[in-house]
Amino acid sequence: MSRAFNFSAGPAVLPVEVLEATREAVYDFNGLGMSIMEMSHRSKEYDAVIKEAQADCLKLMGLSPEEYVVLFLGGGASMQFYMLPFNFLNKKANYIDTGVWSTKAIREAEKVGEVNVIASSKDKNYNYIPKNFTVDSDADYLHITTNNTIYGTAWAKDPENVKVPLLADMSSDLFATRRDYSKYSVIYAGAQKNIGPAGVTLIVMKKSLLENAQRKLDKFPSMLDYKVHVKAGSMFNTPPCLPIYVVGQTFKWIMKQGLEGLEQKNIKKANVLYDAMDASNGFYVPAVTAKEDRSLMNVTFRIRTGDTELEEKFVKEARAKYNMANLKGHRDVGGLRASIYNSCPIEWVEALVKFMNEFMNENK
Ligand SMILES: *Cc1c(COP(=O)(O)O)cnc(C)c1O
Repeated sequence: MSRAFNFSAGPAVLPVEVLEATREAVYDFNGLGMSIMEMSHRSKEYDAVIKEAQADCLKLMGLSPEEYVVLFLGGGASMQFYMLPFNFLNKKANYIDTGVWSTKAIREAEKVGEVNVIASSKDKNYNYIPKNFTVDSDADYLHITTNNTIYGTAWAKDPENVKVPLLADMSSDLFATRRDYSKYSVIYAGAQKNIGPAGVTLIVMKKSLLENAQRKLDKFPSMLDYKVHVKAGSMFNTPPCLPIYVVGQTFKWIMKQGLEGLEQKNIKKANVLYDAMDASNGFYVPAVTAKEDRSLMNVTFRIRTGDTELEEKFVKEARAKYNMANLKGHRDVGGLRASIYNSCPIEWVEALVKFMNEFMNENK
């Protein structure tokens, strides 16, 4: 099979090694004569799969199992938008609004209690990351979105001096760069951008946050109660068995690359793309002008000041000539977007730049 150059924002590219291991496990898991989809999630073989994925995740994050717990739940990152305030919002929550996904998280939290949006980049159509904000000292937590998939912005640095628990949606940049994960009380991510297929959401939670949670959950639905899931080792009900396996395999792949290696590769990939735009004399224009806020994962750009006809032609030609797929920007913002997640090879980015130059020469 020849692989398409797939620049999808999600579900997105996975390492070939992971696909191959999954193909094998789907047919015959570890020579057991059963598919991983056919076996009990309570079997000792499957138990090893989920436990290893949980342990590897903490290892990658440099967090200890004494302090943090790893859950794999259904419902997508979107489910966490509600579950987090449902469990942890008592008095008031602080949010920073950096785009559509932050806004959705805010809307859900508002259904639970008081929300203070302490900073927003809405004034400039979310093309930067707010730098000046003050966290309410009596907030239950602060929530941020580390990478804004739709706009192509990202927090280059973790927010500093946050004295309340910090909760982050890392759906689209998990393990893209090295971070101090111990600054976070909750890290969560829908798997389908960077670590696996759709159907499972990773939640890494500081145990003390859960222990200190004041909300009384006795009468609340069990499925929305983190304590229930933690107590059951993320197996309160049947977990998304196959997606968790794929995530575990992706963690192994990430370990092999090394977080530093991955970060350097990601920086290089993004630079190759942005450099090509800089050299294009205004033919390709990055959507995010503030360089320090540019995402390494989702590179958003326009042709000239938004020549929609040429952009459409670009998307069509990329597909027809070179099998480059999913270069259209999100429907909310238009333009073009190349999502170049962890497992996107640098060769793909180089091929894209070659096409970009060819297209520019034919259409300028
Ligand atoms: C895609 C995405 C989501 C939504 O994830 P679902 O798993 O579809 O609910 C949330 N946050 C960010 C940053 C995303 O990129």
